[in-house]
Amino acid sequence: MEECIFCRIAKGGIPSSKVLEDENFLAFLDINPINKGHLLVIPKKHYGCFLDFPQDQLGPFFAFSQKAAKALIVTTKCDGFNLAMNNGRAAAQLVPHAHLHIMPRFTGDGFAFDWPTKKYEEGEMDRLAKRISSYVKK
Ligand code: 5GP
Ligand code: ZN
Repeated sequence: MEECIFCRIAKGGIPSSKVLEDENFLAFLDINPINKGHLLVIPKKHYGCFLDFPQDQLGPFFAFSQKAAKALIVTTKCDGFNLAMNNGRAAAQLVPHAHLHIMPRFTGDGFAFDWPTKKYEEGEMDRLAKRISSYVKK
């Protein structure tokens, strides 16, 4: 099967500007940053999205991502940062290999998560919360 672009980056077949690497994960600069320093963190194994991570890899993945984020903050002196993981085409996931965006933010940088909001009808919030809750695997 043909490897996806992030599998190839993980194996070094495609060059990337790496900032942190261990046996399982890699953090590198996004080629089209929303601000300079925008990082992508990937598992070296191909997991399609957030749901495909084995549970025991999630903690190490986020601990690794936090290390990369701390280094990014010191380096860029950013005022804040966003974490984002797009899952599925409807959520703007273009590369089908799970990745966490770490986006440095600067006051007044002009980027906005400016999403329009919806309104719940009376009682709908609680009904929906109960339905979701009933599907949570114990
Ligand atoms: P998505 O929309 O799937 O969440 O984001 C994919 C990200 O991967 C985009 O921000 C895009 O700029 C980045 N990207 C795609 N191809 C490459 C590449 O070959 N190298 C690097 N460094 N980043 C890439
Ligand atoms: Zn892959």
